Amino acid sequence: MTVDDDVVLKVEGLKAFYTSKKGLIRAVNDISFEVRKGESVGLFGESGAGKTTVALAILGIFDNLSRYFASTAANEENKRLWKLRDEANKKGLTSKDIGEDLPGVEGHIWFKGKDLLTLDEKEYREIRGAEITYVPQGSTKSLNPYSTIEEQTAESLYAHDEDNTLNEIRVMKKVLQTLDLIELGDVDIRKGMKPRQFSVGEDQRVLIAMALVPDPALFIADEPTTAVDMAIQLRILEAIQIAREEMDLSMLMISNNQGTISQTCDKVAVMTAGHIVEFGSTATIMTSPGHPFTRAFIMSNPSMEVIRKVKEKGLRIRGIPGKPPDLAEIIIGCPFKDRCEFAQDVCREKKPEYREVEDGHFVMCHRYEELPKW
Ligand code: SF4
Repeated sequence: MTVDDDVVLKVEGLKAFYTSKKGLIRAVNDISFEVRKGESVGLFGESGAGKTTVALAILGIFDNLSRYFASTAANEENKRLWKLRDEANKKGLTSKDIGEDLPGVEGHIWFKGKDLLTLDEKEYREIRGAEITYVPQGSTKSLNPYSTIEEQTAESLYAHDEDNTLNEIRVMKKVLQTLDLIELGDVDIRKGMKPRQFSVGEDQRVLIAMALVPDPALFIADEPTTAVDMAIQLRILEAIQIAREEMDLSMLMISNNQGTISQTCDKVAVMTAGHIVEFGSTATIMTSPGHPFTRAFIMSNPSMEVIRKVKEKGLRIRGIPGKPPDLAEIIIGCPFKDRCEFAQDVCREKKPEYREVEDGHFVMCHRYEELPKW
């Protein structure tokens, strides 16, 4: 398999399943997308769609987390599935070879020419936190209240300096540059402060600085503006935009917020029920979405522009009725069929193909061509 030089991340046929009290949960089910150098791609969709699971799989921590929760909520069937998984891994077999869905991660995650799913933990540790960095959702409490932000930001560099080769002056220069980049204001004074002396929004920007300071090849941000007010959201998004431009950053932005995605992403993958149902440029997805889920999701919190456009075309503004499907059940047909106003028999019987309907615009819907256009 060859991956173009300017592709930083290529996710191919990714599956990530875990076990729970309800059985096997198919959290991410056969998705593919890529992030090119300097490009920002958004994973956009409702809660529980599988967006964070994709990030955990890329970071190589999904398997261990799922095993941990499996051990706390173990039942005989789940133990049997994990045993089968281990046996399959030893023999290099997939769940398809075994003839049964298994917990764990399958598929390919190409990063700088290597398939991350073939790495051992030691190799992964060299990449995680250095070449691929991550700001998890709601993580401001993870800052150490007793340590200055300068020390904590520098730690992101020292954590990967196993041979003690880093020059302290250069580290501090890089830390200051990065804290300046996220616009903390008067960095020379504020670098010596501790997290409790900052607002929640500033703490969030410090976490972003900690993820940026190693100059990652891929930066992943998971709902970076959750639980902050609009003014703080704008400051955080501005800081990310400035970093993108200054550092030519390749980014994966995870969010259910249209504004966040519109402001920070070049392209968007729309997720529901563990599937990517639409992919395209941010302009296309936000103003002329083709998949009924994308339309309904945007409609559930429409911008003024969307309201105007939809009214002009004589379409109805409606959100998403009902609940997402239970991921403990095998989905037959389209993952959106139970909530889609356009569903027909074919949608209940056959999974739609994920296909390119225009240059660079992919939609997973049997009826795309027949739907009223936005
Ligand atoms: S395939 Fe059918 S159910 Fe699924 S989104 Fe398209 S029209 Fe709706």
